[in-house]
Amino acid sequence: MKIFITGGAGFIGSHLCEELYYKIPNSKLLILDKITYAANLKFISHLVKDKKRVKFIRADIIDSFKYKKQINNFDIAINVAAESHVDRSFNNSILFTKTNTLGAHIFFQTCLEQKVKKIIQVSTDEVYGEKLNGSFNEQNHLNPTNPYSASKAAAEIIIKSYKYHFKSNILIVRGNNIYGKRQFPEKLIPSSITKLLKNKPIEIHGSGKHVRCYLSAKDFSRAICMLLKKNKTGVFNIGNNKYYKNIEIAETICKKFGKDKKKFINFIKDRPFNDRRYSINIKKIKKIGWQPQDSLMNDLNEIIKWYKNNIKLFKI
Ligand code: NAD
Repeated sequence: MKIFITGGAGFIGSHLCEELYYKIPNSKLLILDKITYAANLKFISHLVKDKKRVKFIRADIIDSFKYKKQINNFDIAINVAAESHVDRSFNNSILFTKTNTLGAHIFFQTCLEQKVKKIIQVSTDEVYGEKLNGSFNEQNHLNPTNPYSASKAAAEIIIKSYKYHFKSNILIVRGNNIYGKRQFPEKLIPSSITKLLKNKPIEIHGSGKHVRCYLSAKDFSRAICMLLKKNKTGVFNIGNNKYYKNIEIAETICKKFGKDKKKFINFIKDRPFNDRRYSINIKKIKKIGWQPQDSLMNDLNEIIKWYKNNIKLFKI
């Protein structure tokens, strides 16, 4: 099975590459990554050293001439590459549209021209916008509220149209917040850990009462791999339904470091708009045999240990 994967040297991408490499023993991976601030080749060096099964190309997803010929007749192409941080998207929204929407469109079109058999777009629950009560299922309409989620929603709308006019074999996965090692220390969990490692206070937007669910990068990768093996198409929410307020996460991490939360949590100005709660319904994927195996609270010690040992990997 020949698999093309973009953004493979980033946080989620590197976990997904591991899952595809170890769980699909005959797979051959072609990994493409621009290597932005969020990526590190060390995240996949253990895979890339197997030259028979793994090849890496450093390129921008937009420059299709750099990968076009190499993906001819591939079985699967998975688009993980993205600019992924909401805070950055407010000040640099054009870059987000360029990579996440135009880049994704160029990726779909190139896959189509090269007769790739199946395309997977890694999307996010943020495309639905906030949900104060209940949860969104896959049929609900998209209502993104920031430049990041808007660029991801736009990519979905383009790729979905391919299903009709080219009869393409397409799968879209919408994950909720993902946690794990290798995540760039700008998102809440790694940012809180690395701040405390440097004896600086954690920064929390607004009141800290925003609610999020967290799924492990491994669970997310296992879900994608299962959908791929079962040859599923359409849209699937993938998530964990355990809810945490941002402040609860910060306080838990403070406690693990033995730090006084009154001194080590700073409340900073909120985003121009900050979705108060995300919630996705995961019945559809559960019905076909997937459910989360990991839990954030069980995994936090291991993640903290990883950042202690690897903080030098990040230019922060
Ligand atoms: P990340 O920012 O950690 O990694 C993104 C990767 O894409 C990096 O390796 C980067 O170098 C690469 N990249 C960026 N622009 C590129 C370009 N123009 N060409 C080629 N490569 C490029 O992001 P992540 O958290 O690993 O997210 C991966 C995907 O999962 C994204 O599509 C994101 O929207 C989606 N997602 C993330 C989360 C989350 O909580 N992190 C949740 C749901 C969905």
